[in-house]
This record gives sequence, C-alpha cells and structure tokens, in this order.
Amino acid sequence: MCLKSLLIQGAKALGTELTDEMAAQLSLYAAFLEEKNSVMNLTAISGVDDIVRFHFLDSLALLPMASFQGCSVIDVGTGAGFPGVPLNIAEPTIKLTLLDAQQKRVNFLKELCTLLKLTGVVCLNARAEEAARTAALRGMFDIAVSRAVARLNVLAELCLPFVKTGGLFIAMKAVDSDAEISEAASAFEKLGAVLEAVKDYEIQGAGVMHRAVCIRKTAATPEAYPRRYAKIQKSPL
Ligand code: SAM
Repeated sequence: MCLKSLLIQGAKALGTELTDEMAAQLSLYAAFLEEKNSVMNLTAISGVDDIVRFHFLDSLALLPMASFQGCSVIDVGTGAGFPGVPLNIAEPTIKLTLLDAQQKRVNFLKELCTLLKLTGVVCLNARAEEAARTAALRGMFDIAVSRAVARLNVLAELCLPFVKTGGLFIAMKAVDSDAEISEAASAFEKLGAVLEAVKDYEIQGAGVMHRAVCIRKTAATPEAYPRRYAKIQKSPL
C-alpha cells in the first residue's frame, strides 16, 4: 500500500478523515524524521510504514476521543512531536504547545514546524515540573496529552497542573496498564482530577492495541504541585 493510502485508510479506521493535503504534510514529516534520525537519536522506530503506524496513526487515534477543535493543547515530553504534531496537522484549529526537556529535540521541532508551515505552534525547551509553575502556562490548557514519558502517577503530577479546571489530560499507555491506572488514583485526587474513561484502540496493520487514559480536571491543582522531579520520582502521589 502506498504511504498516502496507509495514512488515509489507517486514520479513517480510527475515525479521522485526512485530506490529501494533510497526508502530504505527514509524508513530508516522515521523510524529515527519517533524515534527521540518521544523525540524531529521535526515535527507535524506523522505516516510513512503521513511522506512519506507530507514530502518526497512534497519535491520530486521540482525535475522536475529545473535542479538540479550537482547543489549546500542550504535549508534555513531546520528543519528535508525538502525539502533538500529527494532531495539529489533522485538526489545524488546535493551538499547540510542544514541550520537551531536551534542547536538541526542540531544535528539531522548530525546524519541523517551519518545514510544515505550522506557524502557530509554540516549541518550549523546559522541564514540565518547572514550566507548570509559571503563570503563563499553569492552568492554561484545555487539553494536555503525553506519550511514553513516565509512569502514570508521576506523569499526572507533570501534566495536570497545565490543565484548566474542566479540561482533560489524555495519557497514552499500553493496554496492560490497569495496575498503573489503579496506582495513580490517589495522584488524580490530590491533583484535582478524576479518571473519566479508558479507551482501547487498534492501529490498522500494526497488530497491536493501545490505550488512551482520559482524566478530567475537576478543581485547581494545589500550589504544592508539581514538586521537584527527584521528589516526584521518590514519592509519587
Ligand atoms: N512523546 C514522544 C513519543 O511518544 O514519541 C517522546 C517520548 S520520549 C521516550 C520521552 C520524552 O520526554 C523525551 O524527549 C524527554 O526529553 C521528555 N521528558 C522526560 N521528562 C520530562 C520532563 N520532566 N519535562 C519535559 N520533558 C520530559
């Protein structure tokens, strides 16, 4: 199957319609990621078909799970732009902030956004637990998303402070994460949030199921959080 069909059919199976223009932008993204990945460590996944399945389609799976239209979205620990950039390509009304602790990844993201003409994307080089303490970012986002950054009880403390009361945090996890989700219940409560839904999905042609954990922010996060990273890791909430 050609790349464009893989993208369009794979997205459709997940409930998202991609235009030819969006598929072309994603193809350009795949080529740029492959080129840069040969000289810097951005992703362990190689080959455009796997980039499409395990990065692009996996990211796009989130779109039908919440109302993203016109929303401010922060992708915490975005790495090479997942899931934030594919989401913004497929839903251009998103006001996207990409945040990562590694400068070289943020440099890649800035180049990528220029290449893809994603002019409204904000790329920030910062640690989540520090950025979430700044007035410009704390409680400012309708939705926070994050994939492959930390265990859920740690990740909740890194992500939920960015979300507005009433907003959503979507954590991308493996389907065998039941224990991890249960373990994070007290963190959600302390951070002013409740578990809303656990949604499993299949990526066409990948032969795997993945999971989105949707957590609703119901109250402002207490000032004490997030704590310093060493503390978060040593004593998760
Ligand atoms: N989300 C991307 C994905 O799924 O492909 C990247 C995942 S990569 C395994 C984890 C990323 O999280 C790295 O780029 C790392 O720099 C970033 N990260 C880890 N802890 C962080 C923190 N406290 N604040 C900001 N970024 C962090």
